[in-house]
Amino acid sequence: MVQHKLLKHKAAGHEGTLTDVDELLVFKPATPQELEFYRAVQERTFNVSKTTDGDVPLYSWMPTFLGVLDEGLREVPESACALGSSDVNLNGMTVSKEPSESRYIVLENLLHGFQKPNIVDVKLGRILHDENASNEKISRLGQVSRTTTSGSLGFRICGMKIQQNSQTRVLETDHFEPEGDNYILVNKDFGYSLKKDDVKDAFNMFFDHDDLSSKRINQLKQTFLQRLQLLYNTLLEEEVRMISSSLLFIYEGDASRWDALDDQDALIRDTFLDSDEESDDDMEQDFQKTPLSSLSLIDFAHSKIVDGKGYDENVVDAIESLMGTFQELCD
Ligand code: ADP
Ligand code: MN
Repeated sequence: MVQHKLLKHKAAGHEGTLTDVDELLVFKPATPQELEFYRAVQERTFNVSKTTDGDVPLYSWMPTFLGVLDEGLREVPESACALGSSDVNLNGMTVSKEPSESRYIVLENLLHGFQKPNIVDVKLGRILHDENASNEKISRLGQVSRTTTSGSLGFRICGMKIQQNSQTRVLETDHFEPEGDNYILVNKDFGYSLKKDDVKDAFNMFFDHDDLSSKRINQLKQTFLQRLQLLYNTLLEEEVRMISSSLLFIYEGDASRWDALDDQDALIRDTFLDSDEESDDDMEQDFQKTPLSSLSLIDFAHSKIVDGKGYDENVVDAIESLMGTFQELCD
């Protein structure tokens, strides 16, 4: 397999997500359902049987799906499995101890080109389990929904990976884990602990940044609100069920990129494969072409297409509720 290492900045989720040396791609341990969903959306896209009346297509909100990677595996010496360091070079052997985890979904790395990404993962939906869940899981996830903003607002902050800012520095909480390079991981207990009325403050903390002017910070909030409105329109036309999917918000914390782009941001990400113009200097191109922020749907381990069954109320309600929160952030 190509050389790989652990993905540096992750806001939430399981262990085992990797990236390549150039950090262009993400390798996520594959589940059959997530793989099937990416394939199905991609297939539909290339067949273009679907008209979307000018709405942004669903795939534009998703990381570009590049394929599947199966590792040559199994007879991996114990020693090669030692994980924990951030740089894992296993000379073509698996990183996983579990053979079942040796298949990866290959995706566009949504962080590529960001110099100082600040990320929040927001899990969508009041209902957190699908019809395949065991009774144990139904009751556990039901409890999670009832006791968190998943139930009250229809979404929950799962985690953040952000640079220290004036708000994180004063908040004393064991929900913040220092991560080096002035970053902190805001862990999942933070999101669990939030009440309905805390969520606005939590997003204000996410957007607070030492090096960005309040004008730039306000622009970010406005831009994300516009994206949420566009995404809402997309999802009203889509017949999907996306249980336990997330929205990944990313913004650039490096002011020199804001300067270089003269604060010009793109509402919708460039399609990964189209954005590859000839250039002598890839680094320079990334610096110029990567937007200052982006919004993406991720995590389709419990997603499916349901032709003829109408839109995903659970997710559409979540987006509507988020629009309300962002409206308040913008006031
Ligand atoms: P899980 O099924 O383990 O919850 P997710 O797909 O939700 O996995 O991803 C977990 C985390 O990994 C996300 O919160 C995000 O920070 C990061 N991540 C996932 N996919 C990408 C991607 N394509 N590009 C960049 N980061 C990603
Ligand atoms: Mn997830």
